[in-house]
Amino acid sequence: MESTFLPTLDFAKQLDKEDTLSHFREEFYLKPGTIYLDGNSLGLLSKRAEKTLLESLDDWKQYGIDGWTMGNHPWFFMAEELGKKLAPLVGASPEEVIVTGSTTVNLHQLVTTFYKPEGNRTKILADELTFPTDLYALQSQLRNHGYNPDTHLVLAKSRDGRFLEEDDIIAAMTDEIALIVLPTVLYRSGQILDIKRLTEEAHKRGILIGFDGCHSVGSIPHSFSDWDVDFAFWCNYKHLNGGPGGVAGLFVNRKHFGKLPGMAGWFSSRKDKQFDLELTLTPAETAGAFQIGTPHVLSMAPLIGSLEIFAEAGIENIRTKSLKINQYLMDLIDTELAGLGYTIGTPREDARRGGHVYLEHKEAARICKSLKENAVIPDFRAPQGIRLAPVALYTSYEDVWNAVQILKKIVVEKQYEKFENTREIVA
Ligand SMILES: *Cc1c(COP(=O)(O)O)cnc(C)c1O
Repeated sequence: MESTFLPTLDFAKQLDKEDTLSHFREEFYLKPGTIYLDGNSLGLLSKRAEKTLLESLDDWKQYGIDGWTMGNHPWFFMAEELGKKLAPLVGASPEEVIVTGSTTVNLHQLVTTFYKPEGNRTKILADELTFPTDLYALQSQLRNHGYNPDTHLVLAKSRDGRFLEEDDIIAAMTDEIALIVLPTVLYRSGQILDIKRLTEEAHKRGILIGFDGCHSVGSIPHSFSDWDVDFAFWCNYKHLNGGPGGVAGLFVNRKHFGKLPGMAGWFSSRKDKQFDLELTLTPAETAGAFQIGTPHVLSMAPLIGSLEIFAEAGIENIRTKSLKINQYLMDLIDTELAGLGYTIGTPREDARRGGHVYLEHKEAARICKSLKENAVIPDFRAPQGIRLAPVALYTSYEDVWNAVQILKKIVVEKQYEKFENTREIVA
């Protein structure tokens, strides 16, 4: 039976004892005395990720150029091998996923490939709560086609500044829209969009649709293939713990295989043809066609070890714990922080919330600095958000309990007052 919530330290310890994923914690480098709640911005290093990175360095040391086909993790096939391992996490077949580029570059690649303005259909639909890099990329893509982003980038509006209503997005799917790009999970509030429904509605209107999965991949299960999503892209350094600047991922629905990549290079080739070095490209008949140039091997290697952990833990189990530990955090906030000016800006329903809690406070910037001084690592999101991500693989319930006590102390004792209410250069 599920134990009913109590705000006590003993209850936190009991939840840790019952946690079937708790043994994964010792696989990660957690700084002693520090509570890391920022795994949704940069996941922590695991021993297995470190191992596969060091093995790849060793392959270079041992094999030189022959490391492309020999050694622990042959470089020539690494992107495809990682695509296979990532596929179950996004609900795709192995050929539909490739590890390549960065989130923003992959967005450019996919928009260059799939945005084909024609007749009246010339606009791109996104939303006003999306992560800025997506907007900047879309604006530049429109400019490259000779369109004015002010008129051609349509942004679905939020009613309250936190959430999006699927109905509002669907209402914006007019016959002027050629392409839609939306997040799976909103980076501030953590709201999950109804990907299946949005995809169905877009397709009913003859519009292609793609998703930015940065805040969901590694934290919630997906069914990109079954939902018939056209394309998706995401980073591997947040919930997937692939390392700072790690190589990103993309998904292209198999029904689009054979489409020429908008931005081609020799790594777009069918692998058996690549070294024929012909004057025209024979693209891979998989998502591999959306690679461009030589892969960033040393920035991919940690992901090999990291994905082993996900395969062992199982994404369904990760989601179950993630829902539970985030709910636990919200329960503690409700009971322990009442009357202290904190508001939860994350949807309460399980089906609508991702892997982090968005806590709002008018002193958020100063509270975040104070948290760091107390060895709790959150991240601040302007104007007044404190993002807290208890991560299924390495955060304990006791960590969450301690973090909430510190959130309380900071406001009760007005500890935040000694800091300025401005953000740091990296927040
Ligand atoms: C983190 C994040 C990105 C980052 O893009 P990069 O190209 O890796 O810098 C993009 N989109 C969203 C929604 C993100 O959360």
